[in-house]
Amino acid sequence: MIDFHQILKQYWEYGDFRGVQLQIIESIASGRDTLGLMPTGGGKSITFQVPSLAMPGLCLVITPLIALMKDQVSHLRRRNILAAAIYAGMTHDEILTALENCILGPYKFLYVSPERLASPLFLAKLRHMKVNFITVDEAHCISQWGYDFRPSYLQIAQIRKMLPDVPVLALTATATPRVVADIQHQLLFVKPNVIRMSFDRPNISYIVTPSYDKNQDLLNLLQATQGQVIIYTRNRQKTREISDWLNANGYKSIYYHAGLEHIDRDVRQNVWQSEDVRIMVATNAFGMGIDKSNVRLVVHMDLPDSIESYFQEAGRAGRDGKPAKAVLFYSPADNLKLHRRIDEKYPPKKYIRQAYEDICCFLELAVGDGYQVTREFNETEFCRNFHYFPVPLHSALQLLSNAGYITYREDDDSRSRLMMLLTKQELNKIHRLAPNSERLLMCILRNYGGLFSQYVYIEEKYLAHETGLTPDAVYEILKALNHQHILHYIPRKNIPYITFLTRRVQQREIVLSPEVYDNRRSEYADRIKAMLDYAQRTDTCRKRLLLDYFGEHTDTDCGHCDVCLSHTSANSVDREHAAQAIIQRLSDGKPHPLQDLVSLPFSMQTVGQAIQWLADEEEISVTDGFVQLN
Ligand code: ADP
Ligand code: MG
Repeated sequence: MIDFHQILKQYWEYGDFRGVQLQIIESIASGRDTLGLMPTGGGKSITFQVPSLAMPGLCLVITPLIALMKDQVSHLRRRNILAAAIYAGMTHDEILTALENCILGPYKFLYVSPERLASPLFLAKLRHMKVNFITVDEAHCISQWGYDFRPSYLQIAQIRKMLPDVPVLALTATATPRVVADIQHQLLFVKPNVIRMSFDRPNISYIVTPSYDKNQDLLNLLQATQGQVIIYTRNRQKTREISDWLNANGYKSIYYHAGLEHIDRDVRQNVWQSEDVRIMVATNAFGMGIDKSNVRLVVHMDLPDSIESYFQEAGRAGRDGKPAKAVLFYSPADNLKLHRRIDEKYPPKKYIRQAYEDICCFLELAVGDGYQVTREFNETEFCRNFHYFPVPLHSALQLLSNAGYITYREDDDSRSRLMMLLTKQELNKIHRLAPNSERLLMCILRNYGGLFSQYVYIEEKYLAHETGLTPDAVYEILKALNHQHILHYIPRKNIPYITFLTRRVQQREIVLSPEVYDNRRSEYADRIKAMLDYAQRTDTCRKRLLLDYFGEHTDTDCGHCDVCLSHTSANSVDREHAAQAIIQRLSDGKPHPLQDLVSLPFSMQTVGQAIQWLADEEEISVTDGFVQLN
């Protein structure tokens, strides 16, 4: 019997497993294909990390977000666990080094982004690895019924076929019943096997607030709450505007979106995380991988485009189990805005074809050319020259990728990295380095570990600060050292790329199949509709609506969402009914103990209010805990 607790203690110093963690671990460790459903922050990572450490071999982890992948690898390395990652944006040499390490060294985890799965190099090396099991994180991405379908996930089935005896562990925080079934189907589960933890977060009050002046209502809300806050808005520019408005009104806040520089984002995140600033105004780019337990309030200024996204974002509140609020502002104008998003996300086919044509012109690609050609794509310049708006253009690029014409990569990997090419001994033998180069090299060696066996991220600005050189000088020296084959330096880059997967075709030849376009568009429209329904409904407890959406049915109301609160307070219809029931109960003319009325099928508050009201009307009298008709 493997002692999973022992591993949890040894590497993580946690006292015990949470929720269904141990069940998932035991299931995958015994070789069964397993789908684990746990809410965000529930602790899914542990469910593959612990069993892989307990078993011989290496766990292949497929996960879509490069930033999260890097976080996890460095988290594991800090705990002295060997882990590697490969993803789009690494050079051939870097990938080769990582893969060889996994074959030769006692590595326990290899993180792979789904686009890499099909690469011949990866497939060739995979054959030589001893894989204990495959983990598919964010497994809902494999389902086209899910809200975040990624075609490259379908490739996982091929990997499974290559490794027929290796079990698979799929993990996700959001899956409707249809998606749960589809994940298991797409991943070729030998037998259905779902282990789920309730998605109920009883300490969160879900509140929908109709609002005609969201900024003003936001101020009122903030006045009534303590603690850390996240405010979500759709649009990058608005993060700044709202943050400015709050600062002008005495609420210290900062903003965050994916358009900011990497370092800038890190700084902002840290300022908020360390609670120097209470309020973060952000797009949905903020929150992934953020591990902050005492968020007391999450506000949505705009409606997200699915309940899945809403639930994930709202779920960042109250991880510590203490009372927290998730407030969604809704105005009737949102209805129209939300419908407009359908066209933005799925622009007309004609638009997509024209965009393809214009991009080819912009990149000077002739008809018939372009097979496997990769070009830098300056989106801003393209939009300016060809009069496109970024949002629908982006969607068009996405759809053209899904249709197999291009791959489009926004390099979210804008950090530099390097590896030493000489050994330590060889390095010591070099005497004729310029003083600045020497200083820089020393500084690098002092600050970064593992440089002799793998590529390590470096920050030129930081090195400049430490050495007193300018960032430009650091860059030039690194280039020179690279040239001298002392190290391999890969400078940061954040220009998007387009790779053409076919020869350039005529625009009328572009096929946008129902799987790529029509079905996806109508599913997107359905999700938007579900989100709007949620915002507009006032008849059912919010918690129940949300859990119901994810296939979890419960009969109990939360008692503290806006719907429940409206029932318990001034709901005059209920009070009227309760009053009638009380009169009925007292119709025998005898005094009844107050407790007797509590059993009536109304909330305590409603009964209390009805008694008060009847007493005020002099219909009944209340003395010494007994009630009687007058
Ligand atoms: P998820 O992927 O489900 O969103 P993570 O795996 O990122 O969640 O874990 C969220 C946080 O919970 C992390 O800080 C993790 O270290 C912590 N955690 C996970 N399991 C436990 C446990 N058994 N005891 C204490 N903390 C845990
Ligand atoms: Mg996770």
